[in-house]
Amino acid sequence: MSLCLFSAFESRELARFGSIRGALVRKENRAKELWVATLGALQVQVPASLYDACLKKSHGIDFQGEEFLISVDSPFAREMLEKRMHSLLERTLSKILKQKVRLAIQVGASPVKEEEKKLPIKRSKTPPSRVGNIDASANPRYTFNSFVVGENNEMAYSAALAVAQSPATLYNPLYIHSDVGLGKTHLLQAVRHSASANGLTTLFVSSEQFVSDFVASVRGQSSNNFRDKYRSPDILLVDDIQFLSGKSQSEESFFHVFNSLHESNRQIIVTSDCPPEELKKAQSRLVSRLQWGLEVEVSMPSEETRFAILKKKSSKLPFKISEDILSLIASIPVTSVRALEGNLNKVIALVNMKKEPLTMDSCKNLLDFGVSTEGEMSGNSHGIRLKLMDKALEIVGEYYGISVNVMKGASRERRSARARQIAMYLIYESSDFAPSEIGEFLGSRHAKTIQYGIDKINNSYRTEDHFKNEIDHLKSVLVNS
Ligand code: ADP
Ligand code: MG
Repeated sequence: MSLCLFSAFESRELARFGSIRGALVRKENRAKELWVATLGALQVQVPASLYDACLKKSHGIDFQGEEFLISVDSPFAREMLEKRMHSLLERTLSKILKQKVRLAIQVGASPVKEEEKKLPIKRSKTPPSRVGNIDASANPRYTFNSFVVGENNEMAYSAALAVAQSPATLYNPLYIHSDVGLGKTHLLQAVRHSASANGLTTLFVSSEQFVSDFVASVRGQSSNNFRDKYRSPDILLVDDIQFLSGKSQSEESFFHVFNSLHESNRQIIVTSDCPPEELKKAQSRLVSRLQWGLEVEVSMPSEETRFAILKKKSSKLPFKISEDILSLIASIPVTSVRALEGNLNKVIALVNMKKEPLTMDSCKNLLDFGVSTEGEMSGNSHGIRLKLMDKALEIVGEYYGISVNVMKGASRERRSARARQIAMYLIYESSDFAPSEIGEFLGSRHAKTIQYGIDKINNSYRTEDHFKNEIDHLKSVLVNS
């Protein structure tokens, strides 16, 4: 098999076989030192309480190309940094490194272990029941018991339960799709726990892990292992299959794994961020296989279900959070259960920091306006952030003579679509909103559409001087408005 048939990702995986281990310790030290210097600069920019809660115990882990990896000590710290300080951290790091930087944040774990997890070699001879996704790795909390069933996920829950109890009899494959943070990985892991408890063998992998394993097998290091590993479990669970499409060789290999498992009456469950037919670049024969069984969608839970989720999660805490406060958290509009949990975590952190007694007012303050009221952070508070989106639309609309309604609407007319993309770009560049949040604001558009628009404008910005001036002008109007 010729190497040029591999996608960029597959080739990168192959390249990783090289000297990665040797260079690891050196890189780790460098990342450590650079991050210490960055922390010094951040200390004067970030409010002390926030610095102590989120940054004090962070470490520089790895630095390769543009990617800088740090670790923090809690999911709360990661959430806060990602949501509220990501652009500040990247900017500060870029200044210190004198280059563009993309920051990635992980919770805990030593760098060597993380790197080793990524290395697609020498699997131990443990049974196939394992996970390949770092975040998801064998999370004991992700069970059917801890999953709250609501109108938004009923179908997916029942199907997952049925498949865990009697694999390959009802729906094969089971295909679960939704936007991010709505419980797909949770359900997948619940199937895995439940089936394993009943003595079934399971294999849980992210699609990246599948690609890594496949590439390792092509290198001739473990082709038998690969076959054994992927063709023997009673249930194969593949998380986020959308990342497989376009990686042609791996996709082909998955197609054969799929056929082999299906023929031998073994269950396949996959999750994805879109329905099978929207898997861009996927081969049509794989798409049609994925449509053979049952396809279910999970959507955003209602306020009532959000409350039930908060109630369940908070019942495990060593202290009580009143129902009023839980209702308050449930009432805040969010675009994922992960974000809902993020808000609960903020309240938990408030209790842990013992800064203030837990009252409705202290929670309203925290959730509406963030934990900070000073410096750069105040510009990121919830209300102000939302206003920034309105403002950006207004400014772009006025400049190009397109109404806000048209930009939020479905018009595909060239000028309107372009103005909409410029608004996406401006919002993205001037705030820490995720593409999914911008999409929600801009007429419920998919995060991928937003990312596409941002990339497109970014491209013109970098290559067309005239356009760059135009955008710089709009940026300065927005910042000074
Ligand atoms: P996805 O894989 O769709 O991106 P996850 O499965 O990672 O989402 O879910 C994000 C978080 O939300 C997890 O902590 C998960 O436990 C939680 N979650 C999502 N839906 C539910 C639910 N119905 N009940 C309890 N927790 C949920
Ligand atoms: Mg997931």
